[in-house]
Amino acid sequence: MAGLRRRSVVVAPGVPFVSMTVGVRTCPLCEATCGLELHLDGREVTLVRGDRDDVFSHGFLCPKGSAIGRLDADPDRIRAPLVRADGDWKAVEWAEAFAVIEAGLTPILDTHGRDAVGVYLGNPNVHNLAGLLYNRALLQALGSRNVFSASTVDQMPKQVAAGLMFGAGLSIPVPDVDRTDYLLMLGANPFASNGSLLTAPDLPGRLRALRARGGQLVVVDPRRTKTADEADEHLFIRPATDAYFLAGVVHTLLDESLADPGRLRDHVVGLDALHGLTRDFAPERVAAICGIDASSIRRVARDLAHAPRAAVYARLGTCAQAFGTLASWLVEVCNVLTGNLDRAGGAMFARPAAGALTRPARRASGAACGSAATPAGSEACPRCSASCRSSASPRRSRLRVRDRSARW
Ligand code: SF4
Repeated sequence: MAGLRRRSVVVAPGVPFVSMTVGVRTCPLCEATCGLELHLDGREVTLVRGDRDDVFSHGFLCPKGSAIGRLDADPDRIRAPLVRADGDWKAVEWAEAFAVIEAGLTPILDTHGRDAVGVYLGNPNVHNLAGLLYNRALLQALGSRNVFSASTVDQMPKQVAAGLMFGAGLSIPVPDVDRTDYLLMLGANPFASNGSLLTAPDLPGRLRALRARGGQLVVVDPRRTKTADEADEHLFIRPATDAYFLAGVVHTLLDESLADPGRLRDHVVGLDALHGLTRDFAPERVAAICGIDASSIRRVARDLAHAPRAAVYARLGTCAQAFGTLASWLVEVCNVLTGNLDRAGGAMFARPAAGALTRPARRASGAACGSAATPAGSEACPRCSASCRSSASPRRSRLRVRDRSARW
């Protein structure tokens, strides 16, 4: 069996243990795709460890990954197609399952149209080879707009903000942890997750290295997480008020003339409007709402501005709340105002190991991304493959980056 090998292992100092078989696999449970070392007794998983040789995860393993053996052995795990008949579930062969699907689905599509069907893609079916190969084909064949996923719950505000600012929903900047001097982190706990939208081998070790070289890690989170424990400073924030906090930071950057986008100035539109947008969000006003005192908010803004290289990074905690899109946009506004977007040690755009950069999601006819190239009238926009036609003014974000020409 491919990927299996015999290996002597030590499960604890001084306690030698010889495993019968060790399988090396990739955890399919989330985007981090950690390397797993599965110790097997026949088909039974007797031990799960992080694969230290994995180039991506360096042995990291979260509680979900370590429980994968119990998940595999769970008697309730579905191992065959199930069809409900007379109020009960019956295991059937695949041929029968597909026949039932065809009999049920086709009349719905014929009668009510493609959008009558909704699809949910989640962990782990988007993280295995079969899913990567066939999910797209299935979705295209169905033709429904109603596609939901774990991302819908987890990160859609970031994708919306990125789409409006950068023109592609998955062009989400991530902090250059290895080179930054100051990292402001909101609603994220990479010591438990190894990073989200920011996966890197041994991210906890990289964050410790940031501090060891004299950098600063500041965590904003309502909970005292493991990451907060490891940070230079933990600012407790009232849940769902991140947008207020970030607006207070932006207000300070502008109010104290700390904003200096530098070379980014030529690539953004809407900078002037920021003053008016954040005028009413002085730290002294938002402090009572977000639970962080005004002097701390102003200090964070000053530290961000004065650090040689800095980045603001926010994850799930800032997305799964009201104003999540606003908070996600304000994160990048901070990175732009401090000149840290798309530069070494700041918030950078990752390059894929293979394949093309992401392209904008399909938009309905008449919608517009706000591209400066979207022509007036009813011409098709030439910027991407979405074939939008616009007869109205294009929708624009208040601060949108025109071009990402700077690259490393
Ligand atoms: S972080 Fe956990 S669930 Fe995600 S791939 Fe790694 S071990 Fe699996």
